[in-house]
Parts: sequence; structure tokens; C-alpha cells
Amino acid sequence: MNLAKFTRILRQALLLPVIALLLAAAALYLQIRSTNDTVGIIQLTDTRIAQASLVAKLIVDEESGLRGYETTGDERFLQPFTDAGNRLPVEFEKLQNLTEGDPQQRFNVEDLRNEHQTWRDAFALPITALVKAGGRSNDVNLNLYGKSLMDQVRQDIDSIKARAETRRQERIAEWHRQVRNLIEALIVVALGMGILIGLFMRSRLHAVSSAYRSSLEILSRRAEEIYQSEQQLRTTLDSIGDGVITCDIDGRIQMINPVACDLTGWPANEAVDRPLDEVFRIVSELTREPMEDPVVKVKRLKAAVGATNHTILIRKDSTELLIADSGAPVRDQTGETVGIVLVFRDITLERRTQEALVANEKLAVAGRLAATIAHEIHNPLDSVSNLLYLMKNSVSAEESAQFIDMAERELTRVTQISRAILGLYRESRAPVPVDLKVILEEILLLTEHRLNELDVNVRTDLRGPVVVDAFPAELRQVFTNLISNAAEAATVGGHEIHISVLPVAADIDSSGQKQPSGARIIIADNGPGVSPEDTPHLFQAFFTTKGEQGTGLGLWVSRGIVHKLGGTIDLTSETQGSGHGTTVTVFLAEKPTINTNIAGAIPGLA
Ligand code: ADP
Ligand code: MG
Repeated sequence: MNLAKFTRILRQALLLPVIALLLAAAALYLQIRSTNDTVGIIQLTDTRIAQASLVAKLIVDEESGLRGYETTGDERFLQPFTDAGNRLPVEFEKLQNLTEGDPQQRFNVEDLRNEHQTWRDAFALPITALVKAGGRSNDVNLNLYGKSLMDQVRQDIDSIKARAETRRQERIAEWHRQVRNLIEALIVVALGMGILIGLFMRSRLHAVSSAYRSSLEILSRRAEEIYQSEQQLRTTLDSIGDGVITCDIDGRIQMINPVACDLTGWPANEAVDRPLDEVFRIVSELTREPMEDPVVKVKRLKAAVGATNHTILIRKDSTELLIADSGAPVRDQTGETVGIVLVFRDITLERRTQEALVANEKLAVAGRLAATIAHEIHNPLDSVSNLLYLMKNSVSAEESAQFIDMAERELTRVTQISRAILGLYRESRAPVPVDLKVILEEILLLTEHRLNELDVNVRTDLRGPVVVDAFPAELRQVFTNLISNAAEAATVGGHEIHISVLPVAADIDSSGQKQPSGARIIIADNGPGVSPEDTPHLFQAFFTTKGEQGTGLGLWVSRGIVHKLGGTIDLTSETQGSGHGTTVTVFLAEKPTINTNIAGAIPGLA
């Protein structure tokens, strides 16, 4: 149910009673108005009765005044008669006016007026004239006549009053009826309104409640879906092989999966709600300095933080594990970061495997060189023993000195070779300045015999010294492998390897990146090249086209070593036409910032 619909129903629910009440009020107003009219008429009849009474009183005054005068002959008794006589025409006029709309009553008043006039003219005025003239008024006939006239007048007044009274009663009855009608109408309207509003509200409430019911159903369905997807996620998190921890924005742990519990040594119930840095204590493998809190780092970078491989996790029992960890922000619908997910795994075994592979490659190189090395050492030693034999068998002092010189030279060569072999294994802890020219010459010395065997012609362009900071044994491993690869690609006859080293000045490359100063080493051969389908796999571990003869680790290890030194290694190859062959270009920075160790620099395995 949407809000607009709900508001509409509410408005309807409010509007209908208001309209209904307004209508009821209008009806009541009309009803009250007609009741008021009736009350007005009642008041009018009251006024009529009062006026009729006033007229009656005046007539009585007139009559009693006349009687007093008639009996006493004293003019003072005539005063009420005169006063009433003066007033009556006006009061009669008023009474006449009050009979408007009632012809019967009008007629009655008219009649009264005439009767009265007759009484005045035919009786009262002659009597007063008679008394004034000093005559006697005891004429019985005349008085009886006056009495009959006055009786007529009284009768008229009574009938006027009676009629007014009847009219009043009628009006009052009418008013009672109207009031009863009003009350009945009120009850009917109230009932009608009540039922109408009740029915309407019922239908509206029905609509609202059914809308709510369907909203609730949707909500509960959603809740069920959310519950299920949460269960799914939980099961996924519980069953994946990586440790997963989620934290809120303040770095408090909200969820920790079983693998993370195993790796950190913290049970879930103890870890939840604790600050991350208490449970996930990490130091750098290289420096042993505490690493930046992943929560702080993600918040700072506002983006996912890729895997780092040189992290040591200090477990709850203080034992240590080498881990790879990465972090990512959890965002709400508005894109605001509301938490952090941390994923990590134990890479101790992986690291050992990689180290074993690197060592293995080293052994394989040495193994492949063993025969030629033996040969290299055997030849000078053979010469030395020949020279010793010659010296022993009586030679002149001059000859002896010459033989000693020759033997010395042969032994120097042996020393050089053994130093070169040792160089493959002895490694310095920190990068040291290495003259690339010397290194390449040493390698050529070791591989000379094998290159001769393969009938490979080596041309060098080693302008030196070209010095870079590096680990010499590792560089020997790289170049021995690259030169071996070039030699092993030899086809029948005319095979050539061209090795060059040249210093590179600092520069800005095409993409605007700063290129530090260093050295470029190019090892090119005119072999068959690498087929396009093999090219994508060259730097993968164990990729070899040499069957039992190869390890497939040479390029993989070489790239690791070069990347560790912040350098680059590229292989381009041509299989077609006369320009076939392979060129490997290595760039080494003069002052490298040591990246990582070998394994860390090898993509795919790191
Ligand atoms: P491996 O030499 O033990 O085979 P590498 O990693 O050194 O392992 O080389 C991988 C593969 O790359 C080789 O087997 C070969 O097929 C190809 N390759 C490397 N260097 C060259 C080259 N100079 N010419 C032709 N192919 C090459
Ligand atoms: Mg190789």
C-alpha cells in the first residue's frame, strides 16, 4: 500500500463525516427556522389577545364611566368615558391591523367596532346629553337597549378573544408538532449519518486493513527471503576456506567465521563486539612493525584494499602465522561506508612451497650446468697436474718458473669458476651494488662449455661498469636462466645470442609515469621463437616445452625476482621470416625500492 493511497482514504474518511454533518446542520437550520416562524405567529396571537383585552378594558372603562355619570350627574365621573372614547379609535385601528391575514377575525373586529359605535351613538351619547341637560336617565327601555347593545359588544370581544385563543392553541400545537418533528428528524439524521459513516468507514478501514495485510505479507515474504539469503551467506562464509571478519564502521567485530576463529585463535563469542585490532593483531613480515589497521586503511582509501602478503598474524596464544589479507568497505544504499569486510588466509604453506620451487629451479640450473662445470674445472686441473709432472721431471729453473706461471693461471680460472658457482647460492641479506657486466661475464664463463657444445655463438655488448643495487645470487639465477633459454632454443647451425647491457637515464614514459635511472639488459637469440599459443603461458609456473629437460620455473622465478626489485621483464618473439627469434628485455632500477619477496611478486600464486 502506498502512502498516497493511504492519505486519500484518510481524507475521504475525514471528509464524508464533515459533509454529512454540514448537510444535517443545514436541514436542522431549515427546520428550526420554520419552528421560529411558528413561535413568531404564537407571539402575534399573544399580541392580538393583549390588544383585544386592552380594547375590552377601555370599553368597560367607558361603560363604567358612563354609569357613574348617569347615576351622579357629576362631570368627574364622565372622565374615564371621555378618555376611553378618545383612545378607542386608535386601539381599534391597532387591533384591526393585527388581524391581517385572518378575514374571520377581521370581520369580528369590524363587527365589534360597529356594535360599539352603535352603542355610543344610540345610547351613550344621548344619555350624556340628557344628563347634561339635567334630565333623568332612569328610562328603563333606553337602559335595557343600552345593556343589550353592550352585551352585543361583550359577545363580540369574547368571540374575538376566543378566536385568538383558538388560533394560539393551534399554533402551539403546531409548534409542538414541529419540535417533535425536529427531534425525530435529528434522531433519523443522526442514525442515518451514523450508519452511513459507519458503513463508509468500514469499507475504508477494510481497504486500509487489506492493503496493510498485503503489505505485511510482502514484508514477511521479504523478511523470509532476507533470512534465507542471510542463511545462505552464513553457510557460505562458514564453509569457505578463507577467514572472514566483518566490522562496523568503528572497527568493532560483528561477525567472524570459523576459519577466522581458527586462524586468530579467538572463539567467535569472545571475538564479537571486540575492537578488530585486539583480535586481528598484525605486524609486517619484513619490518616487524605493526601494520596499519585495515579498518583505518579502508576508511582512509575509501576503497577495497588488495591482498598484502607480508603480514604476520599474531594469534591469541602469541604464535604467528603468515597471512595474505585484503579488506573492502561495506556500503549502504546511499554509498556510505557502514562497515568493513576483511578476508585473509594462511599462506605459510604456500610460501614454503614457493620457496621450495625457487630453490628447486636453482638446483635444476646447477644440475644442468654440473657436467659443464665439472668439465670446466677438470680441464685446468688436468693442465695443472700435467705441469706438475713436467716440473717434477727435471726441467730448468727458467722452464719451472714458466710452468708455475701457467699452473697459477689455470688455478685462477678454477677459482673464478668456483666463485661463480658459489655466487649462485650465496645471498646477501640486503641489496648490494652489483656490476651487471661482471655478473654476465661470470655466467658466460660458467656456461661457456655448454654454449660451445650447443654450437652457439655469443656476441656481447657489455659496456660497463653498469651498477645497480640487487641481490647478486638472484640476478645470476635470472640471467643464467635467460641465457640457457636462449641457448636451448638453438637450431642447427648459425645460432647466435646477442647480450647487451646499457645504462638508462631517468625519464618520463609515454603514460606520464616517472621512470627511474637504471639498466636495460637485452638477451636476444635467432631461434625459432615462441608460438602464439604458448606466449600467454610463458611466465606461468611449470610451463615448459622441453619435457623432462625443463622445469617450467625459469621465467616464473625470473619475473618474481625482477618484480621484487621493482624492475620489468618482457619477452617478444617472432616465428616468421628471416627475423625469427626471441628477445628478452630486463629493466633494473639503479636504486630499487624492494617490493616484496619472490613469491609476492609472482602474480597468480601470490
Ligand atoms: P624451462 O626452460 O624449464 O622450460 P622456462 O620458464 O625457462 O622453463 O621457459 C618456459 C618456456 O618458454 C620454455 O619451455 C620455452 O618453450 C619458452 N622459451 C623461453 N625462452 C625462450 C627462447 N629464448 N626461445 C624460445 N622459447 C623460449
Ligand atoms: Mg629455462
